Amino acid sequence: MQSWGRYAPLAWGREAIRHAADLVWPPVSPVSGRRVDGLGRLDPAVWAKIHFLDAPWCALCGLPFPYAVGETMTCPACIARPPRFARARAAFVYDDTSRTLILDFKHGGRVECLDQFAAWMARAGADILADADAIIPVPLHRRRLAKRRFNQSALLSRAVSRRTGVAFEPHALYRARATPSQAGKSVRGRRRNVAGAFRVRRSAMNRIAGRSIILVDDVFTTGATADAAARALLRAGAAEVNVLALARVVRPVNPLT
Ligand SMILES: [Zn+2]
Repeated sequence: MQSWGRYAPLAWGREAIRHAADLVWPPVSPVSGRRVDGLGRLDPAVWAKIHFLDAPWCALCGLPFPYAVGETMTCPACIARPPRFARARAAFVYDDTSRTLILDFKHGGRVECLDQFAAWMARAGADILADADAIIPVPLHRRRLAKRRFNQSALLSRAVSRRTGVAFEPHALYRARATPSQAGKSVRGRRRNVAGAFRVRRSAMNRIAGRSIILVDDVFTTGATADAAARALLRAGAAEVNVLALARVVRPVNPLT
């Protein structure tokens, strides 16, 4: 009680500043730009357009299936070439609405929805987070980091770590080689582009060996980047690498074909 009494004026002060700021700069939703009741809230019309992901999905890469055909299902791509990571999960489909949401965050610096993003990711990745020991972001090369000023995957990792209590390891993995953007490349081209690009820092080896790792990225497209990063972590002795993304590119797949 005493501590509440002591800090209450500080909390009231903070609240008052927040309200004053809301009057001067009314909070608006990413994507639509419409007024919302608080910073970090999403316009309900935008929310309704986001396609959240849920089972049934490929047990390995998390690709959603239109219907369930058995308890454990694997998509044709994972059967043809099993990924190095164990499982991948994502909060929602990467489409026109979510692309704007992510671009606002990634290039527009709109970080106010981070807590919301982390809540969605924690829900989508509940199965892989349950036994996880550490959360590691897909790193940017230092030159790209200097240009962009922040790594969106690191911000997502930290937010998921705060929500779940799983340790955040921001510096364990690094990009040893600058790679051109994956955009516009074929699946094979993407794999070649990031092959051998990731390394585990020597100082982090003891926190990777034998551990179950969650690798966090903003968008999961073909899994080529996640696969290359997972390879580096597994070579450093990680027991398992799972992938958690905010969004995922989804191409329609029938699990029976
Ligand atoms: Zn799959």
